[in-house]
Amino acid sequence: MEFVSVFDIFKIGVGPSSSHTLGPWKAARSFVKKLENKGETIEGGHIEVFLFGSLSLTGKGHATDLAVIMGLSDFDPETVETSKIDEFIKTVKEQKHLLIKNQYKVVFDPEIHIHFKDTFLEYHANGMIFNWTGKNEEVISDVFYSVGGGFIVREGDTTSENTAALPYPFPIQTSEQLLKYCASTGFSISDVVRQNELINRSPEKYENDIMKIWNTMLDSMFVGCHTEGILPGMLSVKRRSAPLLKKLLPDQAEYNDSGTWLEAIRRSPVDFQKIFKWVSTFAISVNEVNAAFGRVVTAPTNGSAGVIPAVLMYYLSFVNTNAGKDEIIRFLACASEIGSIFKKGSTLSAAMGGCQAEIGVSSAMAAAGLTELLGGSPERCIIAAEIAMEHHLGMTCDPIGGLVQIPCIERNSMGAIKAINAAEMAIDREPSEVKVPLDDVVKTMWETAKDMNSKYKETSEAGLATTVNIIDC
Ligand code: SF4
Repeated sequence: MEFVSVFDIFKIGVGPSSSHTLGPWKAARSFVKKLENKGETIEGGHIEVFLFGSLSLTGKGHATDLAVIMGLSDFDPETVETSKIDEFIKTVKEQKHLLIKNQYKVVFDPEIHIHFKDTFLEYHANGMIFNWTGKNEEVISDVFYSVGGGFIVREGDTTSENTAALPYPFPIQTSEQLLKYCASTGFSISDVVRQNELINRSPEKYENDIMKIWNTMLDSMFVGCHTEGILPGMLSVKRRSAPLLKKLLPDQAEYNDSGTWLEAIRRSPVDFQKIFKWVSTFAISVNEVNAAFGRVVTAPTNGSAGVIPAVLMYYLSFVNTNAGKDEIIRFLACASEIGSIFKKGSTLSAAMGGCQAEIGVSSAMAAAGLTELLGGSPERCIIAAEIAMEHHLGMTCDPIGGLVQIPCIERNSMGAIKAINAAEMAIDREPSEVKVPLDDVVKTMWETAKDMNSKYKETSEAGLATTVNIIDC
């Protein structure tokens, strides 16, 4: 059974898209590793990349070509200095070659050697082929698929990149299995996740790694809320979170970093209306950073990266102002297990399932995490996830201009608000009265994904992407 870790669901990376940026970046890196094994014999050859299906149709807006260049240059998306990406891309475009392992020169002119093909490969809508051709016409080739949330599959590999090498105590495919483990052990969902994770990590490392995820989320919100201007791309979308923050927290002299910012928010007076605005601001800020090629965490994807930080920030800022590390770890662990159930039973890929696979899943994850922190039983966490997804079923993916901006940025705010509402409804729900099990909703999401017209699956060939005139934007 596939093991999907907290750290597979939450990956630190670079915007704007997990499937169209992070996935191709990782695939290109993986191909380069293969070339490195050939040593100096690769010197003098050239590399070509073919992008298929959705990667071709919305690849330019999602920076797939730039991600491929960064991956072929072996930069790590988790640690690369995002402010230097533009300069590096410019250099590769001018020099028209790459240095594999920093020493073997291969020809690569992005203008000529990245091909956007409007056909689809059979296995998945996000297909890629990487070819290296040597001077004597020898060819090394790999086919990859970016299957959503930054996960990739290499054609011919028999095991997923996430198949655990070690046996772990609680193999989980469905929410029904998860609830059985919780019932037999008395564990919360986050406890079950912790036990599985401790197979591969010490308790200390587990906690530190989750806190690193949270601190990156918090930094994304902080950066987004303090950056004004226009987002990249032809839509000229004005950043909104910084002006929103100025209205909500006019005294910005009170803090100097993300940690003291959270404390200042906790001290600020709020009412129901303001809390709504805060949640939207948190969500929007992350997705503005994402749209500007900044550092965010897939949650479970980049396009939906704002929902989970916004809901956790809501809890820390307004529900339990004494909460800290323990609550943060429990929230993210519980949320990740819901994401993993959707990945195994349905999809996290908008190119396969539309926006229900991104915002819908992130909202379900956040709803479950929040319910656990509100004191809800595992059953109620699952009910919350079910409610949140039930009301995202059928949501299409139709980003205008192929950019992860409209409707994506605002949609994170809507997903976060729905998650909070779902958690509140689940807390008061009697589990025995529930008519729709989460596993049925997972199945329904997948059936809906299969029935959805392919034009609504991250192609920008329908919906808002065609009815809204870009010139009017
Ligand atoms: S519409 Fe939804 S699924 Fe599509 S790119 Fe935007 S956030 Fe992602």
